[in-house]
Amino acid sequence: MRNYKFRLYPTVSQEDVLVNNINVCRWVYNKFIDYSKKGSVSQFDLQDYLMELKQQESWLYNYHSKMLQMVCVQMSGSQKTLKSLRENGRKTGSLRFARYGEYRTFIYNQSGYKLENGKLTLSKIGDIKIKQHRTIHGKIKQVIITKTKSGKWYCSVSCELDKTQPPIINFKKSVGIDVGIKNFAYDSDVFVEPNPLNLKLLKPLVRMQKKMARRKYGSNNYLKAKKWYQIMHERIANRRKDFHHKLSTIYARKYDVIVVEKLNLIGMVKNHHLARNILDSGWNGFLQKSEYKTKMLIKVDPRNTSVECSECKTKVPKTLAIRIHSCPQCGLEIDRDHDASINILHKVIPSERRESTPVEISKRSMAQESHVFRHGQFTLSA
Ligand SMILES: [Zn+2]
Repeated sequence: MRNYKFRLYPTVSQEDVLVNNINVCRWVYNKFIDYSKKGSVSQFDLQDYLMELKQQESWLYNYHSKMLQMVCVQMSGSQKTLKSLRENGRKTGSLRFARYGEYRTFIYNQSGYKLENGKLTLSKIGDIKIKQHRTIHGKIKQVIITKTKSGKWYCSVSCELDKTQPPIINFKKSVGIDVGIKNFAYDSDVFVEPNPLNLKLLKPLVRMQKKMARRKYGSNNYLKAKKWYQIMHERIANRRKDFHHKLSTIYARKYDVIVVEKLNLIGMVKNHHLARNILDSGWNGFLQKSEYKTKMLIKVDPRNTSVECSECKTKVPKTLAIRIHSCPQCGLEIDRDHDASINILHKVIPSERRESTPVEISKRSMAQESHVFRHGQFTLSA
């Protein structure tokens, strides 16, 4: 499967129709919530209940039937997620009623849509102008229409690709990446991507929040401020997404195998004084995008990657403030993130060079890399 996201440009009257469809889905969803309060219900129970609802409320026949059925799928999906969270020992509440503005999507599955000549045709809705900035491959299986909080419309198209041959993976083209706060990514080939923390952008966001707080809740001026706040929020999110896309594309083009650490973001945010920075850098988004772009992404256990020496495996503990890994055993001095990225790579792919004659060859290979510290001296390769 492959997903594409396109911007939609509905006319004013079309927008009313789209909003109306979302509200109908919300109405059905809330009916389901009410119904499921009696006890656990399966997707088929919900489908039966939907038929019942349709007989009582005949106006539901004015809407695409598949769209209403997809509300059953969404609802039972959410229930399953909650159940699995509970089984993993998390505290969970129950599903709540969706208030106005909280429900922002509807789904057309299998039928009722057509995408051609810059128009998205939806059954019972009409032709909507679409900016199709790239050609799609495969057969469209589903379209999801979404209204963002700032009022933009998007269409996510899921396509089923033809069965292709499994990709040939060249393990020589592999890389280990260490993600961090100072450097967003530092890889075993010494490519460094600094973290574009958008904290500067957060200032106007905070200002807008204050403005909202000063205004009377629910008033027109309050809503105006809220809208601006949401527009800015989206802009920051888009910047971050753009950054993730560009970086993951670079990696996917250059390498066949990407090795990263398994991140425990929930634990990190809870325990870390740099929690906001962690949230802001959003490594998970980057890893997700890399995962579907590259041929193979391997997540390894992060234990000891930032402690061990990548040359001789001696454990060299260091605080976060110490940026350089300096090994008392073999004298290796490199950036700590570089050391970690090599360790990450070696967890899966031990280098053949190291296996043959470790000391002699490692010196040569070290000299090939661009900035390596050895005994406190900074050496640059030619
Ligand atoms: Zn060492």
